[in-house]
Amino acid sequence: MTHAAPAGSTASTSKRATLALLVALATLAAASGVCRAEEYLTGMEWQRPPVVTPGTPSTKDKPGTPPSDAVVLFDGKDLAAWDGAETWKIEDGAMVVGRNMIETKEHFGDCQLHIEWSAPTPPVGESQGRGNSGVFFGPYELQVLDSYENETYYDGQAGAIYKQTPPMVNAMRPPGQWNVYDILWTAPRFNDDGSLKSPAYITVLHNGVAVQNHFQLLGDTPFDRPPQYAKHDPKQPIRLQDHGNPVRFRNIWVRELKAPEGKRTREPYLRDGDKETPLAKTAK
Ligand code: MG
Repeated sequence: MTHAAPAGSTASTSKRATLALLVALATLAAASGVCRAEEYLTGMEWQRPPVVTPGTPSTKDKPGTPPSDAVVLFDGKDLAAWDGAETWKIEDGAMVVGRNMIETKEHFGDCQLHIEWSAPTPPVGESQGRGNSGVFFGPYELQVLDSYENETYYDGQAGAIYKQTPPMVNAMRPPGQWNVYDILWTAPRFNDDGSLKSPAYITVLHNGVAVQNHFQLLGDTPFDRPPQYAKHDPKQPIRLQDHGNPVRFRNIWVRELKAPEGKRTREPYLRDGDKETPLAKTAK
């Protein structure tokens, strides 16, 4: 049986406890590397990341603004960024699908695309006939469809890579409300002989909800045959589909994606004061 310490020894007990605590903390810190004097250095000289002023999000009634380095494809005023848009109309700051597919005059490779779209209200038709359009990167379609309480084949609903994969979830807003796609696109690359060097990848947020996570595309997305890759320039137009439904779009902008730039000035090393040790010569 143990006994409580006599009341008279409280001060010295407290000092000893504090000292023990400090020793324990120092031991713990040393073990976790906090107190290590050596610093790991990468040997890379990075370029300063460019400063970008973020945009503002859209509200129900008002489109937001793009980041400062975005290429604006549609801001509610005109269709100057698009080819083939003669039959497309602008109504209340939104562009309305006309009688043919349109495509951007400028071509884009790896990029971030923001696009907002609204299915017709009241809804007309069903399955693939309701609010169908599409966002294409060259020949690859991210489906646009009124998938609010509208059954269709799953790899053909909103957020699907058409006939390749369904979205992970259905994050659709009702007809008439604005949906938002935020897309990260990695363009495929081809070898000189036409063979595939690296496939396309896509990540999609639908209304802020992830529906595609770095999905590897199997090829293009036609209706009537399996997907296949055919050599093309990594930079392609972004295209919007006419599928016979007056889908509306607003606040469309794109940013080209480039990996951070840097050059290796030396191999990775550890530094401890004046002492530098190449990482390759350590066991770390
Ligand atoms: Mg479509």
